[in-house]
Amino acid sequence: MPLHGSPLRSITVFLVETSEGLVLIDAGYDHPSCWESFTASLAEIGHDLDAVRLVLLTHNHPDHVGFAGRVREASGARIVMQRADDFAHQRRVRGGGFLVQLRRALEQTGAPDEVIADMYAAAVGVARHAEDLELDDAPEGGSEHVLGDVTIRGVPTPGHTYGHAVYVDTARGVVFTGDTMMAEGPTQLAIPSLPLDDPAGDLLASLDRIAGLGARIACPAHQFPYRDIPARAAELKAHHQAELDTVAELLRTYDTAWEVVPHLTWAKPWDELGPGTKRFALVHTLSLIRGVTS
Ligand SMILES: [Zn+2]
Ligand SMILES: [Zn+2]
Repeated sequence: MPLHGSPLRSITVFLVETSEGLVLIDAGYDHPSCWESFTASLAEIGHDLDAVRLVLLTHNHPDHVGFAGRVREASGARIVMQRADDFAHQRRVRGGGFLVQLRRALEQTGAPDEVIADMYAAAVGVARHAEDLELDDAPEGGSEHVLGDVTIRGVPTPGHTYGHAVYVDTARGVVFTGDTMMAEGPTQLAIPSLPLDDPAGDLLASLDRIAGLGARIACPAHQFPYRDIPARAAELKAHHQAELDTVAELLRTYDTAWEVVPHLTWAKPWDELGPGTKRFALVHTLSLIRGVTS
């Protein structure tokens, strides 16, 4: 389904057929174009909305949780996401949602106050993220979902967010990897808002975990499905490890993310990046520094 205004262009949600109804993996944006695309696709393959019994969310980004509540209203499906990504849990443990966490991270980058203020203001403008979805189940440390003849395991894979999970249909040999392991390109790291957060370290461990699942086909939420999961995991690990090594080298000379960020490789030279990309690059650099120092 379409993702307007995102460089990722589209999001893929997946349906797993069981003898007792459907499992939906991820739920697009809360946008009419996503909902129309979803319901039209369901009808096209001969299913009714009320056959959806379970909604498994890989993580709490707006392009993944979007219409989960709407599916539940229509079908009575249960909604599951890992506890660390539960919005209510984040308010308790992290003091708030996306904007609070972003603010806290920006304040640790060493950037000048006016830069932080501008970046934060720009994020407020684009962050239309409904953070009030109530979960029916918020497991910690993995989960198992049995529906008729199908068993799907939820495996915690933090890194892209702290509560990211992949879902494995072991019998079919398929793993739904959310945003943790797309077919191409790097994995975006979570915002480090608490002192012990180390999303880069989390991600490297999660890639090993996914490689070891023994699945034959990976279905990421963006781009396209692929095979040879261990090779892809190794490629991503090498990419992020190289970033960490570069940052470790730069930290011999510099102290803060604000000082390090212009010396790393981005799509364009640092001075030519747009404000949104600069914010992303700065927070990413903070994550890498955490990865080196923790
Ligand atoms: Zn995401
Ligand atoms: Zn996504």
